[in-house]
Amino acid sequence: MTASGLLADIADVGRDRTRGGYSRHVFDTAELDLREWFAGEARRRGLDLEQDRNGNLWAWWGGPGPDAVVTGSHLDSVPGGGAFDGPLGVVSALSAVDIMRERGVTPAKPLAVVVFGEEEGGRFGVPCLGSRLSTGSLPAEKALRLRDPDGVTFADAARRSGLDPERIGADPELVGRIGRFVELHVEQGRGLVDLGGPVAVGSTVIAHGRWRLTFAGQGNHAGATPMDDRRDPMLPAAETVAAVRRIAASAPATRATVGRLAPNPGGTNVIASTVDVWLDARGPDVPSVVRDVEAAARAAAEAEGCTVELREESWSDEVVFDPALRDELSAELGDVPALPTGAGHDAAVLSAHVPAAMLYVRNPTGVSHAPEEFAEASDVDAGAEALATVLARLSR
Ligand SMILES: [Zn+2]
Repeated sequence: MTASGLLADIADVGRDRTRGGYSRHVFDTAELDLREWFAGEARRRGLDLEQDRNGNLWAWWGGPGPDAVVTGSHLDSVPGGGAFDGPLGVVSALSAVDIMRERGVTPAKPLAVVVFGEEEGGRFGVPCLGSRLSTGSLPAEKALRLRDPDGVTFADAARRSGLDPERIGADPELVGRIGRFVELHVEQGRGLVDLGGPVAVGSTVIAHGRWRLTFAGQGNHAGATPMDDRRDPMLPAAETVAAVRRIAASAPATRATVGRLAPNPGGTNVIASTVDVWLDARGPDVPSVVRDVEAAARAAAEAEGCTVELREESWSDEVVFDPALRDELSAELGDVPALPTGAGHDAAVLSAHVPAAMLYVRNPTGVSHAPEEFAEASDVDAGAEALATVLARLSR
């Protein structure tokens, strides 16, 4: 089946009527529906499905074994995300199995299609949670304590979805099976639009991290509290949002964003008691940018008689994808270009452990993590063809 056809099959799952686009978060109804759909597609192709101890799904063509060629992506989304970020890699992987069979290719090595859980960190705040747990780059104790916005811990959410929290954590045997990993993804930028081709290979992923700043003041009545008698944490929070833009703008290769801010209790007629501000910062100068943001936040908090606490929620060093694998893929596909990205991926997490590569599919809008994210059906199918071509080569 074509990748574009498979994508059409899941087009109604997890639509977000409020934000537009899709909201599919790990272990919520939409994401569980997509897991069910994936299991059905695996069955239909005679692939053996297993859920690993961290909730990632593996569909094996040939028995699981060492030196496996693995491809896949994720099915979760950011809040109000696009239709392609994640699912495109999964449908392309399934379609690539079909294309290989049509071409009469039988892999000599085990081949698996994987769906990683909580890639976006949209529910528990840590991106690539599934691959970080499996590779041991995130300790299980830390993951189990993570809470979603409703206060549900990852341990409870995992238990409700049939996982054993006692077994969550590093899975060296599973990671040891992976010989090479290739993730196909919609491009999150305009690189391919400008180059005029449907497919590229990935070169690097810039360093990136997430921090939470909690401003604390005095909650009070919006009408009864005089203006000169307030300790309103919204003030330093707002000043910090502006400081993030100012500080990042003076560090040329840095991208820093506040896309989420939560006042507590969050009432129109209430001075907030606390305000949480999340900072996403990416680029080579992030450590100094975050230090400067923290200093600005502290100064703004003190001026308002408030306090601020900063906590790192995740960090990923810059990743350079395996150059030999990247060049092999590029050559096999007719010297397609290599593109860097500012977006994190499970392939980047895995690349610390196994040779990993990425294929990007052209996104004419250049927009991602928003409903306008797009790929033409012809490009989607060209991406699956390209994936089938490289999988056939790697699994010889
Ligand atoms: Zn993604």
